[in-house]
Amino acid sequence: MIVPPVPSEEAASAPFWDATRTQRLVFQRCDDCGAPVWYPRAVCPTCLSGNLTWTESTGRGTVYSVSVHYRAPAPELTDAVPYAVALVDLDGGPRMLTNVVDCDPEAVRIGDPVRATWRALPDGRHLLQFAPDPAGSLADPPTSQ
Ligand SMILES: [Zn+2]
Repeated sequence: MIVPPVPSEEAASAPFWDATRTQRLVFQRCDDCGAPVWYPRAVCPTCLSGNLTWTESTGRGTVYSVSVHYRAPAPELTDAVPYAVALVDLDGGPRMLTNVVDCDPEAVRIGDPVRATWRALPDGRHLLQFAPDPAGSLADPPTSQ
């Protein structure tokens, strides 16, 4: 299990962190151009509009890219390696930098279906991570030749 340092919370990300208390995944969407916005911020990075609305996600997504880390970047992560760092395309949402957990990190592949999973933080918030989604793979089974 990865036990990272507790993340800080800023004004722009407060709604995201509040939603994690009930393990809900929310992200911003631009009211003017429709772009999903991640990480939380005050202005759309696509069109510079300040009209952003928080949207709830199903928490399902697909691995866009993955890398396995074998060397701990900080002493508190020494027991966590190896772990998978991935870019996940959230269904109908943004691409997120995250971890894929609850599996062999070397088994994570590009295109794997994943779902949000949560790790409790000491202050009641939860850390967003992703885990393999068996239901996702059943919905789109690989073809055998
Ligand atoms: Zn926009």
